[in-house]
Amino acid sequence: VIFGRPGSGKSSLAERLGADFGYRLVRTGELLRDAVRRRDFLGQRVEAHVAKGDLVPDPLMFELLEKSLTAPVAEKLLFDGFPRTIGQVHRLETIQQHLRFEIDAYLDVAVERDVAVARMTGRRVCPQCGATYHLVTHPPRVPETCDIDGAPLENRKDDRMEVVVFREDLYDRNAPEMLRYYQERHAERYFEVDGNQAFEAVYDAARTALRLSS
Ligand code: AMP
Repeated sequence: VIFGRPGSGKSSLAERLGADFGYRLVRTGELLRDAVRRRDFLGQRVEAHVAKGDLVPDPLMFELLEKSLTAPVAEKLLFDGFPRTIGQVHRLETIQQHLRFEIDAYLDVAVERDVAVARMTGRRVCPQCGATYHLVTHPPRVPETCDIDGAPLENRKDDRMEVVVFREDLYDRNAPEMLRYYQERHAERYFEVDGNQAFEAVYDAARTALRLSS
């Protein structure tokens, strides 16, 4: 499970770890944005929350998440964007029991708030596959074009300044309790990397912490 404030770079890190070490990414933000794009029943109910940068209510979030997990889990999963609150931590424990899987590591990508806010303004995302880029720190090979499928990149609606501030506040309210919970209960599986560094340095630190070798 990977944690980090909005703009911490955790999604780029998750993508790279997934590609290099064969994890299937379970990304709740992406599942939600897909639902919004499909404009199905669930998508319509979550749209306003996502656009505001607010948390989607737990029942909707759990419904969507549980649909994307199959029993038994035969793959290596990397959770990106879930859990976000202590309530979701407990739900994840229930899902673990039902689907019988272990969580090997909790990785916190720790970044200063100001650094994160500055990064988010340059963020771009692929509307087709969900890959994330940054104009300065992680640019696509061809400007404004996805490396994976060639789709034109987009700015996320929730990367507007007032929404960014709202999302950072939300993180500061919810994350400390959740991270403390894991630090206290799973100290041997809890790792923190300094996410203020350049992407490659963060990636190397994460690999070292998780003992992943290429
Ligand atoms: P992300 O791509 O992880 O930054 O998520 C984008 C948006 O999706 C968030 O601002 C929330 O509106 C929503 N979202 C993602 N994950 C969750 C979650 N675990 N619980 C509630 N809402 C979520």
